[in-house]
Amino acid sequence: MAAAEPKTDQERRKQISVRGIAQLGNVKSVQTTFNRHLHYTLVKDRNVATPRDYFFALAHTVRDHLVGRWIRSQQYYYDSDPKRVYYLSLEFYMGRSLSNTMINLGIQSECDEALYQLGLDIEELEEIEEDAGLGNGGLGRLAACFLDSMATLGLAAYGYGIRYDYGIFTQRFHNGWQVEDPDDWLRFGCPWEKARPEYCLPVNFYGKVIEEEGVKKWVDTQTVFAMPYDSPVPGYMNNTVNTLRLWSAKAPNQFNLEFFNNGQYIQAVCDSNLAENISRVLYPNDNFFSGKELRLKQEYFLVAASLQDIVRRFKSAKFGCRDVVRTSFTSFSSKVAIQLNDTHPSLAVPELMRILIDLEGIEFDEAFKITRETCAYTNHTILPEAMERWPVHLLERILPRHLSIIYEINAKFLDEVSKKWPEDVDKLRDMSLVEEDGEKRINMAYMCIVSCHAVNGVAAIHSNIIKSKTFKNFYEMFPDRFQNKTNGITPRRWLLMCNPSLSDIIIDKIGDGWVVSLDELRSLESFADKPNFLSAVRKVKQENKMKFAEYVKKEYGVAINVDSMFDVHVKRIHEYKRQLLNCLHMIVMFNRIKENPMRDFVPRTVFVGGKAAPGYHMAKLIIKLINNVSQVVNNDPIVGDKLKVLFIENYRVSLAEKVIPAADLSEQISTAGTEASGTGNMKFMLNGALTIGTLDGANVEMKEEMGDDNIFIFGMTVEQVADLWAKGYKPVEYYERLPELRKALDMINDGYFSPEEPGMFKDIFNSLVHDDRYALLADFESYIACQEKVSELYKNPELWTKKCVYNIAASGKFSSDRTISEYARDIWGVEPSDTKLPDPSQTPLHIGQDEELNEYLQSGGH
Ligand SMILES: *Cc1c(COP(=O)(O)O)cnc(C)c1O
Repeated sequence: MAAAEPKTDQERRKQISVRGIAQLGNVKSVQTTFNRHLHYTLVKDRNVATPRDYFFALAHTVRDHLVGRWIRSQQYYYDSDPKRVYYLSLEFYMGRSLSNTMINLGIQSECDEALYQLGLDIEELEEIEEDAGLGNGGLGRLAACFLDSMATLGLAAYGYGIRYDYGIFTQRFHNGWQVEDPDDWLRFGCPWEKARPEYCLPVNFYGKVIEEEGVKKWVDTQTVFAMPYDSPVPGYMNNTVNTLRLWSAKAPNQFNLEFFNNGQYIQAVCDSNLAENISRVLYPNDNFFSGKELRLKQEYFLVAASLQDIVRRFKSAKFGCRDVVRTSFTSFSSKVAIQLNDTHPSLAVPELMRILIDLEGIEFDEAFKITRETCAYTNHTILPEAMERWPVHLLERILPRHLSIIYEINAKFLDEVSKKWPEDVDKLRDMSLVEEDGEKRINMAYMCIVSCHAVNGVAAIHSNIIKSKTFKNFYEMFPDRFQNKTNGITPRRWLLMCNPSLSDIIIDKIGDGWVVSLDELRSLESFADKPNFLSAVRKVKQENKMKFAEYVKKEYGVAINVDSMFDVHVKRIHEYKRQLLNCLHMIVMFNRIKENPMRDFVPRTVFVGGKAAPGYHMAKLIIKLINNVSQVVNNDPIVGDKLKVLFIENYRVSLAEKVIPAADLSEQISTAGTEASGTGNMKFMLNGALTIGTLDGANVEMKEEMGDDNIFIFGMTVEQVADLWAKGYKPVEYYERLPELRKALDMINDGYFSPEEPGMFKDIFNSLVHDDRYALLADFESYIACQEKVSELYKNPELWTKKCVYNIAASGKFSSDRTISEYARDIWGVEPSDTKLPDPSQTPLHIGQDEELNEYLQSGGH
């Protein structure tokens, strides 16, 4: 939320007015706490303090305000012993926390006013915070939105993940090529996390399985410790604060004892680093399985540490006012729900089985029933290259006991299969969790479907595809397990926080109930033909565009035309997302302007953003091509400011928060059937951009919500894509038949955009013209024609803005609050609660003077 220019007092007050006027006493209290932290925590005074010191002082001030609520919420869960929800994910793409925390606590205007009076610019300080980039893209950001919604809905929920030392790499361009720099996000420390070294848990690897008196034992293992770091997850204005617990790997001291004994001090220390490599870095692949040993260790590390914690918390229950130790696991699944964010944490299945069988002495079948009733699995993709299929030899070496449990699950399952389909060896082969063709592998998605009580897709179309194609056999076997849970986004971050001006004019018309019940935005439809409201919406968009243009000027030194259409395509770079189709459109526009410079042309600025996986050759080449096209287009005097192309470097959560509110057009152009849901699409819709998109993922449901006239749909349907391939798709025929397409592709191939190395992009040309797995050429004509309609509409600002309003008004369904309510009701069996927990302090901003708190602290806590 970077401000444009310093505002007058009056302007500032007006802008923050919708979120409450700051109370003078609270402002003073914030200043006192802020100064105390600057002095005692940062050990600085105002003469030597840097902006970063001020950021940390503010973050600690805000954190103080959380602590009472955090402790109370956890104590409340302990006392009331509700069913707990555990969201297990290898990724939590949290972004920044400062603004979001102030907003959710309702102390934004107080903090703003306090810093203003101290002569500090809060928005400048907010920019200093590092993104917590512990995710790749949509899957990781979904986990973050879900945490916000679970806390806001008052669920007793916990996020469990890994505290990577290095999050998603920082992207930099060198001669237009992507270069990856390590994301050292913890360099200055993270003000939100609390390390809990006293709660370290052991995680075992390697070793072997022996049998003693009929009991299996996993022995001779190597141990690594998992150290928890807890971060607060505040709900919106309800005094609930949940926990995100991230595990960091610690080498146990005895690990290298023999080296110490041999006097090899350096060697011993280095080897301890080896164990700690487990939580060193996030794998930078989106929708791709790379099958690396270290990644398998990460997945097990998360699961093993989290399940110990979950079982410990289950056991140490409270009945009435008595602390007891639960010994029976019959009630486990009525107290614990575990959600697996894709198959990445799917080792939770054999790990829970191992705990129940080997440690708790429960029979296999009973253990399997408990496990199934506890666990649920979310599928996020149908792309074959993304499916986790772990080689048996890796599991055998690293997790031998788990492999034997998976084999036993498989044997019992295949018994059932042969009962349902007697004599059908094909079914047995196709459905086996153990794939025998080529290198033996375990299909983790199959394991999840067999071992979980619920399996869900993330948009209606995606859930239908997994039932009818991807997991067809399994659907026939277990029809009741399959569900849909269409993804959502949190309206706190993705409207209230990132777009305060739009929030203000909406609140002005319909109040602020939409912040927690987004369906209320529907009532904006009645303002879609009010000229005053339309011009207010248009003015807000224009201001957001100007603000983003300033940012672009400052960061990249590029001047952009704020009266041009902002055409935005931001997401991970992947062939299925078809950034190349957009690139072909850029080249077509370029050629049309050059061929007919005097013809009427609706000016556009095309923004592309996104990271390529470092090992993904084609994705990196796509970035280079777009950067080269940008060079040519932006420096052509004939094109002028009719067309600009800008690849915005290092797309991440905090950049999404800047660019999305400034977008006129949102590009959601994946091949039908490839994007499971998308959530970027929803963020744009909520911020009043129009969408050009295919009938893929959640675009389908967005269209249903807003009506066909308010979205630009083009291209083949899922069925048409299937027909195309069935009839034998030959992309070269489109290349030969369509002159503009042919010209654009020839320019790419012949070095028009790479004169210093004409063959640079031949791989792109060949993959499109001779393979085209994602059928770009088949959708080309339809896409270009649709883009012409977009430009045509843009000439009519009234009608354009009216459709923007219909988009905003129809976005209620895509709140992650709705998504989480459905998970709670249909999968977890828990109730959202609208009871607001008591405010831990009578004077909201007065810290540590609370008698009840002191009493609680003396009683020991939990
Ligand atoms: C929302 C989001 C995504 C997901 O975008 P899609 O268009 O759904 O792929 C990826 N990255 C960031 C930083 C996001 O905020």
